[in-house]
Formats: sequence, C-alpha cells, structure tokens
Amino acid sequence: MSPGEVRAPDPAALREAAALLRARQLVAFPTETVYGLGADGLDPAALAAIFAAKERPADNPLILHIASADQLDAIAQTIPPAALRLAAAFWPGPLTLVLPRRPVVPPIACGGLDTVAVRVPAHPVALALLREFGGPLAAPSANRSGRPSPTLAAHVAADLGDRVAMILDGGPAIHGLESTVVDCTGAPRLLRLGALTREAIEAVLGPLAADDPGSAALRSPGLRYRHYAPRARVVIASTWELPRIVTQLRAAGERVAVIVREAEPGPGAATVWRVPDDPEFVGYARELYAALRGLDAGGVGVIIAESVPERGLGRVIMDRLRRAAAR
Ligand code: AMP
Ligand code: MG
Repeated sequence: MSPGEVRAPDPAALREAAALLRARQLVAFPTETVYGLGADGLDPAALAAIFAAKERPADNPLILHIASADQLDAIAQTIPPAALRLAAAFWPGPLTLVLPRRPVVPPIACGGLDTVAVRVPAHPVALALLREFGGPLAAPSANRSGRPSPTLAAHVAADLGDRVAMILDGGPAIHGLESTVVDCTGAPRLLRLGALTREAIEAVLGPLAADDPGSAALRSPGLRYRHYAPRARVVIASTWELPRIVTQLRAAGERVAVIVREAEPGPGAATVWRVPDDPEFVGYARELYAALRGLDAGGVGVIIAESVPERGLGRVIMDRLRRAAAR
C-alpha cells in the first residue's frame, strides 16, 4: 500500500486502517457530515499529526468520535441531563456535545480547555472503523485548514493525499455540512451551527439562549478563524439581484461562476453550478462545498452564490457562505 491510497471500505481495508491508527498514523474516512481526518483520540503524538497535516492552529480543538453513547463516561467527567436528552434524540448523528473532560483526554485534543467535544457519527463506515479500532477517534474535517470541508474522497486526496496513510472512500458525504456543536457544560448553548438544525434541537430542549457570537467565538475557538474559503472571491446575491451582479462583474472583466438554486444567471457566467431546489435546502447543503471546490478548480475569479432564506439548513448555508465570503 502506498501512502494516501484511496481504498474501498471493505473489511480488509478497515482492519488495515485500524492497525494504521494504532500505529499513530492518520486515516481519512467518510462520515455523514463531511470526511474526517482520523487519529487515535487519546494519543497526544497521533493528535499532533492531525494539527501538522491540516496546518490547524493549536488552540482549535478537535471532536472525538465514539461508536456508541456507552463510551461517553470514559471521556466526560459529568453528563448533564440536557446532554443525555440530546444524545438520546440525535445520536448517532450530526450533533457534537461539549462536556467537562476526564484527565484521560489529552489537552491537545481540547485546545487546552477543560472540556471535550464528542459525537457518535451515523455513517456505517465511520461506525465500522470506530468498532474495529476500539476507542475514540479524533476526526476534524479532512481538509487543509481554512479550505472548504471535503465531501468526497477526491477532495481529501487533493488537500491531504501526501499527508495521510489511507483514505477510505465511502462516496459523497450525506449532509455535506459539519456537525452542530452544543455546549452542555451549563445551560445548553449553540456554539456552531451545522447539519442538525437549531429548530430540531429546540424541539427537544425548548428555546436556546439567543445567539451571542462574541462569547460563542471565545468558547468555540474554531469560529475565530477564516473558514470554508475557496481561492476565488465569493459574493452572495439574492435570487433577483444575481443576474444583474453577474452582468456587472462580467463588465468589470471578471471571470464569473455562479452557484444557483432558483436564479437564472443570464449569459455572463462562465460556469453555472445548479444545486437541487428542494424546499428544505438539503441538496444545496450537500453540494455547497463540492461546488466551491469544483468552481475554484476551474480557475474563476469570482463565485456568486445565490442566497437562501434563514431557516433550517438555510441558516447554516448562509453562515458558511458568509465565512467563505469574508476576507
Ligand atoms: P471540525 O474542524 O469541524 O472538527 O471542528 C471542530 C470544532 O468544534 C472546533 O472548531 C470548535 O469550534 C468546536 N469545538 C471542539 N471542541 C470544543 C470545545 N472543547 N469547546 C468548544 N468548542 C469546541
Ligand atoms: Mg473543519
């Protein structure tokens, strides 16, 4: 096997992957959110390799993935009732809980904080690998820091192919957005919006505290950094404005690509990426990062992305577009 080899997730590959992980190597694998860059979640040297490969700032903590909620006790010092209710409702699934950590969890996994982030993923390949490995795996998105998260094995190979021991190919990620992170160390707080909507969480817990981006950014260090950004400039436009903005940027000599759901971009766009227009924005969420990466690879100067209403996954798509557009 050569480093970075893309493998079908058959039983032999899963056994080899677990052996590599035990030897402190990095293995990328599919999850239902995005592809993860896996390493032994309790081994500081293996965790350091994640930060090096991704070029990730040391104060941006990782998420530990476990095969079932039974393993929570081993890494979390206490599990408040709200966390138990969320885990019962949404695990396995795209929800990460932040809890007080046990000393067994290395500080490097937690950005030096006294808390640990943990989830049970729903993807069959992720679960099979966790069972084969037998312990928690840290698995941040398998991209270079700052780039759009990977939703295909090919995205991982493009960013990290020379820096991982193996890439397990499970096809396209199901949600295409990262997990939603909820701090359960006090009154539950949303730290990062993701594939599980605020509405779904509030249906279980009741209304959450209003967004307070300032302090949420402090408690969830990853939110401070520029994220999800392709090389091209990203501009957000409403369905109605979009054709006019295409024309304007084109007239200014820009090479323009568009991501559209309902909009008609007109003749000025060099490349058109049309996402599915289902009413809950599931298709847009699934294809957003692939669109940003794909259009970028085509070498355009500006990507104009159609905005969506701020509800359900629409809120998350808009959050990611704003971060991608921020310079
Ligand atoms: P990812 O790169 O998608 O795995 O992102 C992990 C994100 O989870 C981090 O960037 C933080 O925003 C959040 N996170 C992880 N651990 C903690 C923690 N202990 N406290 C607060 N937020 C955390
Ligand atoms: Mg990430």
